[in-house]
Amino acid sequence: MSKVLIIGAGGVGRVVTHKAAQLSSVFSHIMLASRTKSRCDDIAREVSELQGKSIETAALDADDPKNTVELIRRFRPDILINVALPYQDLAIMDACLETGVPYLDTANYEPPDLAKFEYKWQWAYRERYEKAGLMAVLGSGFDPGVTNVWAAYAQKKLFDEIDTIDILDCNAGNHGHKFATNFNPEINIREITQRGKYWERADQNGPGQAEEAWGSGRYKSIEPMTIRWDFDFPEVGVKSAYLLYHEELESLAQNIRGLRRIRFWMTFGESYLKHLDVLQNVGMTRIDPIEFQGQKIVPIQFLKALLPDPASLAKNYTGKTCIGDLVTGKKDGKEKRVFIYNVCDHAECYKEVRSQAISYTTGVPAVVGAAMMVTGKWSGAGVFNIEQLDPEPFLDLLGKHGLPWQVIDVAPGLTIPS
Ligand code: NDP
Repeated sequence: MSKVLIIGAGGVGRVVTHKAAQLSSVFSHIMLASRTKSRCDDIAREVSELQGKSIETAALDADDPKNTVELIRRFRPDILINVALPYQDLAIMDACLETGVPYLDTANYEPPDLAKFEYKWQWAYRERYEKAGLMAVLGSGFDPGVTNVWAAYAQKKLFDEIDTIDILDCNAGNHGHKFATNFNPEINIREITQRGKYWERADQNGPGQAEEAWGSGRYKSIEPMTIRWDFDFPEVGVKSAYLLYHEELESLAQNIRGLRRIRFWMTFGESYLKHLDVLQNVGMTRIDPIEFQGQKIVPIQFLKALLPDPASLAKNYTGKTCIGDLVTGKKDGKEKRVFIYNVCDHAECYKEVRSQAISYTTGVPAVVGAAMMVTGKWSGAGVFNIEQLDPEPFLDLLGKHGLPWQVIDVAPGLTIPS
């Protein structure tokens, strides 16, 4: 029996709170804290109605570690789940260090004025967490998160040698809006308007411009949305996926032994790409402040205010997501190629926790990761990326709590783009 403090009452925070309430044998007491308390109270009402469990709520500005320290001292949680925005990661990690509370998140730190996805800021806490005998787990969402755990599982159970990993993320759902993002618009648009980037071993010669060296290889970069793969997703069908950079590549390139190449692909519909192109061309996705009628505004934050709240998409969302790792390598001296994946239905998520599948597939792994930590299935002192921990108990619980997953052999005729 343990106490969990959840920070962030957005789309993901809603799912985390519902799922923690369902796992009441692990989480006996729940507090949801966020910048706007009314959002926490709305979720608390819903959780009471649907899960029959009362939770506590609090207003919290987590940008200042002092506020989080004060709340932690009052509630005395056994674990903190951070599902606010990536900008708060370091301040919340500081608060956890000061109070000795284990930390878990789903997205790596980003400085507000620089769209850069790197673990260096959070990895810099390793020594302090080790010295404090405290555990921090980074990236326990879906991607990063489950996709990393599958890579660890492939390494542990399915392959003797892993050659390549392609992470493929498809949302084939329909929310009925011409343009909307499925999670925080600012974070989402910052992510996909960057140059595409992947990692390959130093002796490889894939397309793109060589960037900085990393581990036994280097990153290659390409213009955004210029490499496409029409992939046949199980239960969903053929969708166009585009090569882009995603934060899990950085840690997986280090933690999966013998990798030759790792890439990330995400599907986008034509209408989404058309809107994004126009928004970019007119400067609406800029993250630097501009002068407007005597005050400073950041265009992407203004755009966020115009777009639908991702949580509001849930009610009328139909269709499915399919996210998986296509892994190639060798087992018992033979070539092997598998696709490890999950399919999640938007409407089913709404029925269960009033959420759409993107928030659901992020929130469930966060709760499962936290359950691993408080039950001692995962332990250790330091800052860990999720693939460094035992994948099996995590995947076992994940399957039982809403995200079943499968491993299939990849059809021999499938051509993987080089
Ligand atoms: P939302 O924008 O819906 O929710 C974010 C919440 O954090 C809001 O309730 C917001 O408060 C709160 N918040 C913002 N700033 C602060 C602050 N200073 N102090 C306290 N609370 C704050 O985002 P999502 O729920 O869609 O995403 C949550 C996290 O999940 C993000 O970090 C995102 O990157 C990550 N994510 C990870 C994925 C994965 O697979 N790994 C996939 C999708 C998302 P307010 O209500 O006042 O605005």
